[in-house]
Amino acid sequence: MMPFDYLRAGNEAEALQAAADRPGARFIAGGTNLLDLMKLGVERPPHLIDIGGLDMRAVTKAPDGGLRIGALVTNAELAAHPLVRERYPLLSQALLAGASGQLRNKATTAGNLLQRTRCYYFYDPASPCNKREPGTGCAAIGGVNRIMAILGTSAHCIATHPSDMAVAMRALDAQVETRRQDGQVELRTLDELYRLPGETPHIEHTLAMGELITAVVLPPPPKGRQRYRKVRDRASYAFALVSVAATLAVEDGRIAQAAMAFGGVAPMPWRDRAAEALLIDQPPSQALFDRVAEAVTSEAQGHGGNDFKITLLRRTLAACLMDLTGNAQ
Ligand code: SF4
Repeated sequence: MMPFDYLRAGNEAEALQAAADRPGARFIAGGTNLLDLMKLGVERPPHLIDIGGLDMRAVTKAPDGGLRIGALVTNAELAAHPLVRERYPLLSQALLAGASGQLRNKATTAGNLLQRTRCYYFYDPASPCNKREPGTGCAAIGGVNRIMAILGTSAHCIATHPSDMAVAMRALDAQVETRRQDGQVELRTLDELYRLPGETPHIEHTLAMGELITAVVLPPPPKGRQRYRKVRDRASYAFALVSVAATLAVEDGRIAQAAMAFGGVAPMPWRDRAAEALLIDQPPSQALFDRVAEAVTSEAQGHGGNDFKITLLRRTLAACLMDLTGNAQ
């Protein structure tokens, strides 16, 4: 482990100033991913700024009927919050499908969004990995790639984003609120927060150095029913091979509103609005859902060991949509 210095920030302004004064500094709160990466030598920040004591632990109703979730609300607190369980059950289901009880007690909302891939080679400093060491190659392409992505990949990286929570948030049109040292406050959709790997898989998001996530803002809950369905190798404490977060509203026998996001299949929580549009104004049916599932995977590409994910994603999506119409499979 590389030496680093540590500062416990007393408030937001102090945290932002400390980050501005210390190039390469990283914020830390729950530490459930960053500390592991530091122990392995994958991450080597010279400075850690502990923001765990900041006042960002509130979940409050927004004036428009949405929800504002403080960046330091833990995954356990958020999953159990009455407003989340009642109005965004999809989010609660996704959170409870992730990690373990112990980890959910420590992991925070902002940290969950920014956790890094679980690609085996990324965690092994002896393997070539463009994300860890740009320009060294990608051991997963042509290697063991059962857990890797089938959508949004590049010739430089095929890793997935590991979060369940972020998949639910993408389906719910969440926005991430950030603050910079100059006082600038910004809102980004998750689409705007994450970057696809392209030629620079080591750059995973659009946050500037020292920019701090302060909250996640959810719009009012969507109409209709919500569901998070996760397929994994064992029933708990496993990352998604494929997951689907979906909302569906049926009015007068036709689908009036729909949103879908996918986990375990892409470098960011994946959304396909063209496929969503295929659902609108249609009567729900197995045939329709199969057609939509085909559309979602029309550009999917396997890498040998993960070819099965294409079929798995289709079937999981169709089953989740059937479930939302009251015809569980
Ligand atoms: Fe590294 Fe990405 Fe290749 Fe995994 S898939 S070895 S994270 S470059």
